[in-house]
Amino acid sequence: MTETTVRVRFAPSPTGYVHVGNARTALFNWLFARYHGGAFVLRIEDTDVERSEAQYETSLIEDLRWFGLDWDEGSDKGGPFGPYRQSERKDIYAQYATELIQQRRAYYCFCSPEQLEAERQVALKAGRQPRYSGRCRALEPEESAARVKAGEPAAIRLKIPEGAFSWDDLVHGLTSFSGDVIGDPIIVRSDGNPAYNFAVVIDDHLMGITHVIRGDDHISNTPRQLAVYQALGWPAPAFAHLSTILGPDRTRLSKRHGATSLESFREMGVLPEALRNYLALLGWSPADGKTEILSDAGLIAQFSLDHITKSPAVFDQEKLNWLNRHYMKQATMARLAKLSVPFLARAGYIAEPVPNPTLAWLERVVDAVLKNLDTLSQLSEASRLIFEYEPCSPSHQAIMDHLLNDNGAREVLTAFIPQVSEPLTYEKFREIAKAMQKQTGRKGRELFHPIRVALTGAESGPELEKLIPIFEEGSKLSLPHHVKSCTERLREFRECAGIG
Ligand code: GLU
Repeated sequence: MTETTVRVRFAPSPTGYVHVGNARTALFNWLFARYHGGAFVLRIEDTDVERSEAQYETSLIEDLRWFGLDWDEGSDKGGPFGPYRQSERKDIYAQYATELIQQRRAYYCFCSPEQLEAERQVALKAGRQPRYSGRCRALEPEESAARVKAGEPAAIRLKIPEGAFSWDDLVHGLTSFSGDVIGDPIIVRSDGNPAYNFAVVIDDHLMGITHVIRGDDHISNTPRQLAVYQALGWPAPAFAHLSTILGPDRTRLSKRHGATSLESFREMGVLPEALRNYLALLGWSPADGKTEILSDAGLIAQFSLDHITKSPAVFDQEKLNWLNRHYMKQATMARLAKLSVPFLARAGYIAEPVPNPTLAWLERVVDAVLKNLDTLSQLSEASRLIFEYEPCSPSHQAIMDHLLNDNGAREVLTAFIPQVSEPLTYEKFREIAKAMQKQTGRKGRELFHPIRVALTGAESGPELEKLIPIFEEGSKLSLPHHVKSCTERLREFRECAGIG
């Protein structure tokens, strides 16, 4: 027997930016499809005309691409089961709605919004869960058809049979809802737009979706969707509902907690592979339960719905930073230099477009500061001492006083500064330092710390071995923020310190 080909989908509504919860849903679907050698479909659920915007479709596609996912069929690339945008499938929904009316599995509902709201209030007051009373169910179909023909606005509701709707959820196990609590749901609104629970079933069926993997905020929609499958006589796919993602305070992760959209992680300078690895571990773990660093190939090879937890996952920015540091160390300097451009441009340090010699120099800059970074957004702060050197400014007063109160430091610098000439290489610097050691009898930190402060204006920072060539080469580039060479730095230093 051949196994049916796995087909899964990610079905975002283009109503805003892609939240990490949705990004994780997309990722799990993608991993599941790739593990099984199946198909991953991108369907755009834009039937909510008021909230959907074409611009969000474009940005969500860009964000998903940045995130590193690819799909086999979708609104942007077509495929054998298209169109993949719900707003282009209205005729299909209408055709099935008419079929259900004809079979008396659905009926027209003429209740006004005011009437429905009044019913809701009565139920709420009585402490009952509101649900549709079923008033229009009793209308004679011929009479209803005549009213619709005469132009009276009508929604279409599905008749929910008595009994329970159950499924064996691949994450939550056997899950059941009584038909009583559902009420007859609207499947087509009076404006002709299909309801989500109707469109989704028709699409999932016609697109051959075998597994619906989505957030557990949709759990209560599933019985309604099962009712639609039943009414249409279609087999239902398997369902897996993923747990909610919580913030550190254990409330649903939202903007209050900081970055939550794919775009905000990108802007923060998180690498997409770090985010993929991190989100894959948010509610899922590999069979050994402990490996944390997993490449795409590693994730795909091991991904299984069996190891998804039911309990909500707590978003941990520290762990994401840890993974990001790991992936930044793996990345090539050329890639990181390119990625650093917007951050440095925002700080006014460089201007776009960046010419090749500057890019090559940026590789050195990134390499020098990388080990202190969680994300690339910290790059401009970490590289400030390269771009900004103002020893005479009031902000440096404390550092300068501290340095110059130390007679040993004064001695080192008095001897060191006149020795430096342009261009300074690290080798030359070592030679001078060696001579200084002999002359002053100081070594190690006692020797190098004052030199570091004089050259960088800071008490700590990357190794001088990396900084010296950065200062020298940087000073030859034409950058909006001139990078001072070692001799320029020492000249300024001498001016305000009065030594050397
Ligand atoms: N359009 C729905 C959403 O964005 C997706 C629902 C589903 O996956 O069935 O939440």
